[in-house]
Amino acid sequence: MSQTPTRADFDRYMVPNYAPQQVIPVRGEGSRLWDQEGREYIDFAGGIAVNALGHCHPVLVEALTAQANRLWHLSNIYTNEPALKLARALVERSFADKVYLCSSGGEANEAALKLARRWAHDTVSEHKHRIVSFSQSFHGRTLFTVSVGGQPKYAQGFGPVPGGIVHGEFNDLDSVRDLIDDDTCAVVVEPMQGEGGIVPATQAFLQGLRALCDAHDALLIFDEVQTGVGRTGTLFAHEQYGVTPDILTSAKALGGGFPVGAMLTTDRVAPAFGFGTHGSTYGGNALASAVALAAIEHIDTPEVLDGVKRRHARFREHLERINARFGVFREIRGMGLLIGAEMAPEYEGRAKDILPLAIEEGVMALIAGPNVLRLAPSLVIPEADIDAGMARLERAVARLVDAQ
Ligand SMILES: *Cc1c(COP(=O)(O)O)cnc(C)c1O
Repeated sequence: MSQTPTRADFDRYMVPNYAPQQVIPVRGEGSRLWDQEGREYIDFAGGIAVNALGHCHPVLVEALTAQANRLWHLSNIYTNEPALKLARALVERSFADKVYLCSSGGEANEAALKLARRWAHDTVSEHKHRIVSFSQSFHGRTLFTVSVGGQPKYAQGFGPVPGGIVHGEFNDLDSVRDLIDDDTCAVVVEPMQGEGGIVPATQAFLQGLRALCDAHDALLIFDEVQTGVGRTGTLFAHEQYGVTPDILTSAKALGGGFPVGAMLTTDRVAPAFGFGTHGSTYGGNALASAVALAAIEHIDTPEVLDGVKRRHARFREHLERINARFGVFREIRGMGLLIGAEMAPEYEGRAKDILPLAIEEGVMALIAGPNVLRLAPSLVIPEADIDAGMARLERAVARLVDAQ
């Protein structure tokens, strides 16, 4: 007979690369979760910007169960209808002509970076392999993506790392002018840095990157793993800047909680991934594709996208009201339902201390680095849940202030 698992089992059986909170949620519905003891929580974490339609949304449950009773997996020796429908849906809704499907954001970025290298290799020469990235950026945990990412701690101790990668300063175009040259194959950037602290790119920065890439025949890669699929109030964040990439990566919200990723590109670049150059057993998995198709079709509607902008305003009002009372935040920023509140100097590095207090008060939140409280709730969170969750968060902040 199997015993009910406990948090102690994590320490006993799991590799210690995570340090999860003490409670174990067992059930979710919409923006509410319940733990093993039946305690209820309001979810502002959204599985780190993944559960774009909350928990167990009927549209996703229906897509998953219908596909589960039909066909799960074939491998890429065959193609399948859900994958083809998903690829077409992504192409019809974006700048892209071609899609590569995979199972996570890190894999999507790995594909994007390999594609850029291979494209430059095939069209110019192997010398055109340099990649420009940015400090504080995050692109995944594979060896290539931690090397490209701008947080050295994630690559520490894993060397030797791939070479030919340089880092500029986010939102500082001059730093890129110093680094980019004709041997650059790609510039990779998040339109809004997520893990790096919820920092939106400026209009001039993204426009300038596009111009610099064009001048040096380098590819512009937008990592929209966190910002994409409705999170910022448009299907992809870059649409709000009017700047178009050559390659875009998506994951997180794309599957609404089912593991899936995608790399989108153009007909100019796609041929560099010729037959046999790259692949993934699970890429285009029928079950994953069916769920992602349902998610994207449901999210890419005026009701959901306009609702994201409305909800942004409501979260911001609450955070500003909390800050007027306690003065804990230096700045409240973000786009759509990816919101960051940077801690005031007196509370430097204390954002992480809010999380366990928030759990005790019945609300789940996130941080983005030690100094930024991050909220990434469901795109369709009911306004009553926003108000109730923010009241709980306010009590958590009050306790942080009292303990200071
Ligand atoms: C989460 C994230 C990734 C990595 O995605 P995984 O699915 O964890 O591999 C890459 N880029 C950005 C911007 C992310 O936020």
